[in-house]
Amino acid sequence: MGGFKSGRRRWLSGPSEAQCLGLSVFALKRTKALDLEPEEVCRRTSVWESAGQSFGSVGLTVEADPQGRPALVWLSYEYRGTPVRYAIQFTSTRCNYGGVRWWFICPVVGCGRRVAKLYLPPVGNHFICRHCARLVYAVTRMRLSQRLLRRVEKIQNRLGWSNPLGGERPKRMHTPTFAKLVDLYNRYFRLAVQKFYEQWGIKTGEP
Ligand SMILES: [Zn+2]
Repeated sequence: MGGFKSGRRRWLSGPSEAQCLGLSVFALKRTKALDLEPEEVCRRTSVWESAGQSFGSVGLTVEADPQGRPALVWLSYEYRGTPVRYAIQFTSTRCNYGGVRWWFICPVVGCGRRVAKLYLPPVGNHFICRHCARLVYAVTRMRLSQRLLRRVEKIQNRLGWSNPLGGERPKRMHTPTFAKLVDLYNRYFRLAVQKFYEQWGIKTGEP
């Protein structure tokens, strides 16, 4: 499930769906993770791959309520070396031809949209709805100085990374140089994430 297409180094200039890692409720349903017994707990792993290369994975634990309906899904993954764990709630709507359709509820405070897909935006460590992901981009773009943005972009180009979560050391780059660049890159990232949380107040789960 998921599916990540490599958007070559351009994510800083504006995120598109292809440049965010996504989680789909339909993909989860296809793995039978939403057909549960009362209070059943069901575990799955979502892996993103592009051209045979893995971009990361997310552990998914779906918990059913006493009626056997999916209540929430715990997401656990590593974001830039830090473990992240929090729950996304489900909601349902009735289908015209019977049965129910399941949706995620966006975890951003003040959003709570019913969505089929959540995205990990280029900046920020939580899966959120498409609308909020666009806001993240707008806010970080607005708040970060042009000078800082140019520096981040320059580092990313030197590293040859197309994935916001990071990547491998380029073959010709020495290890100390790589470590220095990654450190700098992470520092700018943290600054951007911090500004995002200040403004939008995403609920954070205990790691
Ligand atoms: Zn949202």
